[in-house]
Amino acid sequence: MSGHAHESRIKELLDRMTVDEKFGQLQQLAWAWDTGPGGGDTESAETAAREGLLGSVLNVVGAGASNALQRIAVEESRLGIPLVFGLDVIHGFQTTFPIPLAQAAAFDPAVTEKDAEVSAREARSNGIHWTFSPMMDVTREPRWGRIAESTGEDPYLTTCYAVAKIRGYQGADLTAPDRIAACAKHFVAYGGAEGGRDYNTVDVSEQRLRNLYLPPFRAAVEAGAATVMAGFNTVSGVPAHANPHTLTGILKEAWGFDGVVVSDWTGVQELVAHGGAANEAEAARRALTAGVDMEMVSTTFVDHGRELLAAGTLSAERLDDAVARVLRLKLRLGLFERPYVDESAALTGPTPDTRAAARDAAGRCMVLLKNDDRVLPLDVPALRSLAVVGPFADSGDLLGTWTLPGAPASAPVLRALREALPYTSITHAVGVAPEGFDTSGVPEAVVAAVAADAVVLVVGEPPALSGEAAVRSELGLPGAQERLIDAVTATGRPCVVVLVGGRPLTIGAWARSVSAILMAWHPGIEAGPAVADVLTGAVNPGGKLPVTFPRAVGQIPLYYNHERTGRPYDPAAPEVKYVSKYLDIADGPEFAFGHGLSYTTFTLGDPLLSREWIGARELREGATVEATVAVRNTGDREGDSVIQLYVQDPAAAITQPVRRLRGFQRVRLAAGEEREVRFTLGADDFGYWTNDPAGTFTVEPGEIHIHTGDSSRTGARRTLQIT
Ligand code: BGC
Repeated sequence: MSGHAHESRIKELLDRMTVDEKFGQLQQLAWAWDTGPGGGDTESAETAAREGLLGSVLNVVGAGASNALQRIAVEESRLGIPLVFGLDVIHGFQTTFPIPLAQAAAFDPAVTEKDAEVSAREARSNGIHWTFSPMMDVTREPRWGRIAESTGEDPYLTTCYAVAKIRGYQGADLTAPDRIAACAKHFVAYGGAEGGRDYNTVDVSEQRLRNLYLPPFRAAVEAGAATVMAGFNTVSGVPAHANPHTLTGILKEAWGFDGVVVSDWTGVQELVAHGGAANEAEAARRALTAGVDMEMVSTTFVDHGRELLAAGTLSAERLDDAVARVLRLKLRLGLFERPYVDESAALTGPTPDTRAAARDAAGRCMVLLKNDDRVLPLDVPALRSLAVVGPFADSGDLLGTWTLPGAPASAPVLRALREALPYTSITHAVGVAPEGFDTSGVPEAVVAAVAADAVVLVVGEPPALSGEAAVRSELGLPGAQERLIDAVTATGRPCVVVLVGGRPLTIGAWARSVSAILMAWHPGIEAGPAVADVLTGAVNPGGKLPVTFPRAVGQIPLYYNHERTGRPYDPAAPEVKYVSKYLDIADGPEFAFGHGLSYTTFTLGDPLLSREWIGARELREGATVEATVAVRNTGDREGDSVIQLYVQDPAAAITQPVRRLRGFQRVRLAAGEEREVRFTLGADDFGYWTNDPAGTFTVEPGEIHIHTGDSSRTGARRTLQIT
């Protein structure tokens, strides 16, 4: 069916619908998946579906359950409008891929696009039509647990990942039996919550909103994201669920978004607690008139919609527009033609192919933070004994936040190392628990270390400490893990730390006493094999940090693309006193954005530009500049490097960041191989959004510095003149 046919079908349905049925389409209820059929929410969902007073349900899992509920809506309700089933398919359905932050560390969105296709196929075959992903909240807050769901601190990297995921989920045709609708969330600026406290305040200037937080959403809308979810935060005093400037002015009017804006879980009702509405009727009015179309879980629209219409505080046009958006989503998904899923074709779990994809993805996202004396990769033929120590060494709990209940556990590192190193004698000791201060197991770990040629310590942050509402005030290793590392490194054995976690961790003094640190994040279902691949050198690590690792919590917010200051710190003149640096800690991050080592070495040439100057007007009309840089693998093994291109505008009406990522390419080079990497740059890359609330993008004449390198801190520079 064409877009035109959809619109006439929508009109025809709207003409036949009662007011209650209209509000019903705006309601999404939660299925009580933990109680199963017959549980409390399940019954109310069934009754509402039968009465034609329900548009959507979230958390129905399983082809049989979704068909049964759909049958009620389609066959027993007056108009037979199908339900749309949503679920948080965040980094996998049955096959759990690395957490989104880890995926971003691969700097390889094409891989994530393929993995999102796997998730879409698995989910749709089980009756899910709609995922609440991608999360595209740019964030500079490692204390915020939801950083694990994000793709880090950079708006350009986030944009590339958001678009890749949307393509992977939705493909070209949402009616296909292996595609699902995406949801760009959380609109907007949720990643800026003060102090990283979840659900919190965001006070943001218009220019920062437009340059930092909005670009991924704009790209998502351009990529055809079917839906958008409102955020739990305020945006400069106005709750995001009640914000006409962002939801209607920018998203729907300026960008022409014609899909569904869904609230977050009880986000409309929470406007009362938020201090944005005196009661639920007012909450419903504010959310609906600001631009929320569908209400998740709370029921203020269906409870109060009629009275708002009667009072004239909600227009019939706005109601019809919201309903039309929900019906449009269902038409786009082909639900009127094919409301049911083929139960005999429901996928039942990971296959060898999807496991291989998850292993490949996990290997790509690992970041080698440190590798003194090239202790990694392990010298497999010479390694007679290895102690594998720590609370996560034998853990099946490395899937990360937001996984499907019942999804297969992650394969443990210990087992994978035993398989990968059949001729090495491997001992294992837990040492300490992931949390808690019982150190009674430490001596056993020390004994194992003393008897071994080398030690692999698998330590870090358990999945339960990152994700929604998992805010931390300290970012060190939880519990007594640092005590374990100190005791084991005191043996003098070469120690390799495999660090797991859902956020940047502060590494601490122990970092100096270990030989290597591999950031493995929460790597998903194939955690163990992927870690073993990297430790043994079967995979040469090529991941880069998508987020800054601070030295200490007190430095936060600390991010690479900060604005310039009048008194910048100059490493060449550290004695200068009045600069923006802390007195009690070394300057800068522990590990910078874009950092990551390899088992081989690369050299990068200086960037070359296709032109030395270009007119601002030409740029606005679409002209581009090419930057090329030669990269060579100067080591003795194949490896991946991520070539990064940053721009800087050193003099602008609005002070610009010291660097902004505007291009990256992950390239695989054989030993000795050289390649030229090419970037095309245009107006989007050189200009910026001003503070104008109506939205003005400007490209100023003057110099632009273009840096290329393999981290945000290194690289050579060329100057482009904009005339
Ligand atoms: C989260 C959303 C999620 C929703 C549904 C909320 O608590 O903020 O990101 O999609 O729950 O599970």
